Amino acid sequence: MPSWGKGYFAVNDSGHIVVRPEKIVGQEIDLLTLVEDLHARGLTAPLLLRFSNLLTHRLRALRDSFASAMAENDYQGRYLAVYPIKVNQQRSVVEEVYRYGGDYGFGLEVGSKPELLAVMAMADDPSPRLIICNGFKDDDYIKTVILASKLGRAIVPVVEKLDELDLILKHAQRHGVRPRIGMRLKLASEGAGRWRGSAGAKSKFGLFVDEAITLFETLRGRGLEDCLELVHCHPGSQVHSISRVKDAIGELAHVYAELIGMGASGLRYLDVGGGLGVDYDGSQTNFPSSMNYTLEEYASEVVYRVSSVCAEKKVPHPTIVTESGRALAAYQSLLIVNVLGRSSLDGFEVDEDLDEIATAGAMTQPVLDLVEAQRDLSERRAVECYHNAIQAYEQALNLFNLGYLELAERGFAERLFWKTCSMIRSLVRRMPTVPDELQELETVMADTYFCNFSVFQSLPDSWAIDQIFPVAPIHRLDEKPIRRAVLADVTCDSDGKIDRFVDLQDIARTLPVHELVPGQDYYLGIFLTGAYQETLGDLHNLFGDTHVVHVGLDGEQGWGIEETVEGDTAAEVLSYLQYDVDALWARLEASCHRAVELDRVSETEAREILAFYRSELDGYTYLEPEGSPS
Ligand code: PLP
Repeated sequence: MPSWGKGYFAVNDSGHIVVRPEKIVGQEIDLLTLVEDLHARGLTAPLLLRFSNLLTHRLRALRDSFASAMAENDYQGRYLAVYPIKVNQQRSVVEEVYRYGGDYGFGLEVGSKPELLAVMAMADDPSPRLIICNGFKDDDYIKTVILASKLGRAIVPVVEKLDELDLILKHAQRHGVRPRIGMRLKLASEGAGRWRGSAGAKSKFGLFVDEAITLFETLRGRGLEDCLELVHCHPGSQVHSISRVKDAIGELAHVYAELIGMGASGLRYLDVGGGLGVDYDGSQTNFPSSMNYTLEEYASEVVYRVSSVCAEKKVPHPTIVTESGRALAAYQSLLIVNVLGRSSLDGFEVDEDLDEIATAGAMTQPVLDLVEAQRDLSERRAVECYHNAIQAYEQALNLFNLGYLELAERGFAERLFWKTCSMIRSLVRRMPTVPDELQELETVMADTYFCNFSVFQSLPDSWAIDQIFPVAPIHRLDEKPIRRAVLADVTCDSDGKIDRFVDLQDIARTLPVHELVPGQDYYLGIFLTGAYQETLGDLHNLFGDTHVVHVGLDGEQGWGIEETVEGDTAAEVLSYLQYDVDALWARLEASCHRAVELDRVSETEAREILAFYRSELDGYTYLEPEGSPS
């Protein structure tokens, strides 16, 4: 936790995880207390918790890192961050970033027309803050940009394809606006990580250098050479290797300096895009879920590269702009899920007398082989018995499928096999070194803990791109976890599960968890989910948005609930998919009347059915504890 939590998460003396939104020991929120408090208010898990102070802290950390890098390098330009709203477009997140970023003059980045429609109305400060417009642009998108600049917004459309320039010039002329223009470069330096295709010659976006020169010459031809204000690149998201950052920034800085030399007198922003990583697994390595550099090193590299190119080419220092999204938003939210139950393979018991069965020899051969594998078991013969048991069990299953093994014998074989595996695992746990052949046993024998959430809705990157998120019980951490589990969600798909976890050496296939105690809730936290997860999620199995709770550092207990947004109801989710809920209701009502007429149900039962249906329509889409009000 100290590695991936970066000081924002810790464990207190009660064995509960606490959140320290500003990394201050003592100024902390006990997650279990918070979850129980919310439960008492009728907000049950799954819950998405958002910590606004943590978001503010990330903004400050970004600003401070660049401020000290600039001081170190005697940098004369400024630093600005623009928050790419696609990372988490929830109104409250964008508003918070915009509000808190005000002190530092930070702005926003949009990647589409709908995003721009939200931002242009919202960003109405008297002293305008930078709005950068990326993404594919049609006529209306550009018209919106030009109209926003007429309203006084500091808005810069970034040309991704040359024909966008014609649209900008057309609308600017029509509305009498001197446009501010940016352009995105297709750099030769490839990015790194999963999104490395965002940079490089084959990238979907940006201008080749030759096109960039054409753009500038076109502007110059119209006496608009000072309108080119910004050059931009985006090296891809979650860049895990600092060397890629260095290459991309060095190349972009050279483009900037050359354009200044060519007479681009208005060029003043060098926008290095996003890509600043998050160390999801805490390993601080060049691994896709990690990063081999810190925020401070990133800022220092960016500033150093830009200032050394500027010194070499004798051009003024530009304002450095970053579009970091993930690094800003990931830490602020976490998902709390409750465990509904488990299935395990080590609960099988064999009471039969195996010696007797072996002597009688009255069973099918593979079953007798399974009996032998268990009778022969010792630490020395563990590998041999494991192999024999696997082979015999496979043969038993084949015989059953061919009709040569009875159901009862198959059931016995199943019990025997898993009991033997369980006995071998106990031996393995005592061995000083585990033989290679038995390494897989912990994973094979892992429990499945069923958790109340949908991977597809709340953790799409875990399902789609094998992204690793830190997961941990939020309580009982003063107690040794004695089981190992994979986590299954409540959707009816077998890939609705988490089976890759943070580990000190590699990726762990199972998570250490505690034994479930009947009647007691067991909660797990899934951390660093604030970037990209919320709006990418889908409605698989019609599980909707979870409840969202905004928590701040104030109030009597040191923290308070700032805002709660209740999760989707079943009726809402149905209506997203064009079901007419009133029509469904009317049809069910008619069915109830018919059932009464046919004497299938009484009047009272019919009323109960309708009342229950209504309350379920108005209820949470996730599983709720018995008796909780819908
Ligand atoms: N800017 C652009 C143009 C992007 O496409 C992205 C995301 O891929 C970002 C910024 C944000 O990147 P990140 O979240 O990795 O900082």
